Amino acid sequence: MKYKSTRGGIKPIAFTDAVMMGLASDGGLIVPEIFPDVSDRLDDLATLSYPQLAMAIISLFVGDDIPENDLKYIIDCSYSTFEHEDIVPIKSVGDLHIMELFHGPTLAFKDVALQFLGNLFEYSLKKNNTNLNILGATSGDTGSAAIYGVRGKKNINIFILHPHRRVSKVQERQMTTVLDENVFNIAIQGTFDDGQRIIKALFNDLEFKGNYNLGAINSVNWARIAAQIVYYFYGALKLRRTSSTGMVQLCVPTGNFGNIFAGYAATRMGVPISKLILATNENNILARFFNTGIYEKSNVKQTLSPSMDIQIASNFERYLYFLVDENVCRLNELMNDFDKNGRLDIGTLILENSNCVFTAESGNDDDTLTMIKKYYEQYNYLLDPHTAVGVGIAERFLDAGEPALCLATAHPAKFDDAIKQAIGKDIATHDSIRALTYLPTRCAILSADTQTIRSYIMEKI
Ligand SMILES: *Cc1c(COP(=O)(O)O)cnc(C)c1O
Repeated sequence: MKYKSTRGGIKPIAFTDAVMMGLASDGGLIVPEIFPDVSDRLDDLATLSYPQLAMAIISLFVGDDIPENDLKYIIDCSYSTFEHEDIVPIKSVGDLHIMELFHGPTLAFKDVALQFLGNLFEYSLKKNNTNLNILGATSGDTGSAAIYGVRGKKNINIFILHPHRRVSKVQERQMTTVLDENVFNIAIQGTFDDGQRIIKALFNDLEFKGNYNLGAINSVNWARIAAQIVYYFYGALKLRRTSSTGMVQLCVPTGNFGNIFAGYAATRMGVPISKLILATNENNILARFFNTGIYEKSNVKQTLSPSMDIQIASNFERYLYFLVDENVCRLNELMNDFDKNGRLDIGTLILENSNCVFTAESGNDDDTLTMIKKYYEQYNYLLDPHTAVGVGIAERFLDAGEPALCLATAHPAKFDDAIKQAIGKDIATHDSIRALTYLPTRCAILSADTQTIRSYIMEKI
């Protein structure tokens, strides 16, 4: 299996090189040359445990780049940190099925991919006898999942910037209570956008980047997509037995299009999914695109589902590339339009595409609160606000004929304020979050200034 860039500017590369590259060096996103087709193996895949299925699917993307036993070890380690024996248990709630992706160490779905990516980084660095300094900015969930992915690992340091006092208490403590020597939390006196600006400036400083082996861990890394494809197969194969058509509908709350792109990739590989329902909050650039063919930026609005408060979906370019039939010239044109005007228009391509597997819609904070309350009162089930966005849209777009699976992307205890607002009681708790209250923390508070951050990193490496 080889990888190429959506912008057409790199030679084909192997899996590990694609992982270490992160974003393609020509500014595009990395995609596989083909999607492996497993449609004739579904019965066999349906019998596997989660780690076995992960091995079966991920090895197709790794090819012969990592010996089988090594890959198996990496995958087994990655899912041994999950607290539920099924890794991603599926619960039946009302008319829906809910797949809980939040049983990893930081209680959000990002652990599914970042536990794997952390182990993969450690393995590759050791093999090549090099080191890596990961640099990232977070508005909340990604930072802690990335930190838990690489804490204590050899040859890796991680520096995560978060906006001082602008992340939730739980999110802050999940990051700053990690005291491993290779973890550096930096609270900048500014906003999340300041953090992103600083990170971008440091990555653009090629001398600094080269001398200090800087790496990213953001949601465009292909290894994250590969790891996420697994649970689409897992869920669809578990539920298809109860479906009269043999197909399943999936509903995914989304912001960066990272999670749901993995769902799209799974459909290209033959997963029995009839419909991908894309759910956004009021930051609805993706929902607007699927309903109009126009992808256009507007201002970010703060909502009760902050991990989806995103205006530019970093994985969207991957889907666009396949939508224009892998036509690199057309893709470059469209992305140039978007960079210049904050807008791109694909005409009727999506509206007239009867094969399009997506249905998209957005919900607002009132819908979120209503769903949390309804599912708690009717089914005694607590939805986190991101999952609630998905469930609200799923209820509106379900076909009664097929089982519907909603992805639950965070444990409700991570967003206990929203739960309290919805049902008037403070009942969203989790042992691992309660335990954080008593732990010591470490964090540098620095001004939101590129030179200050650069000096700090140079001093610590
Ligand atoms: C990151 C995140 C999302 C959005 O995922 P995308 O891959 O950006 O679509 C949704 N819910 C939670 C809880 C998250 O942490």
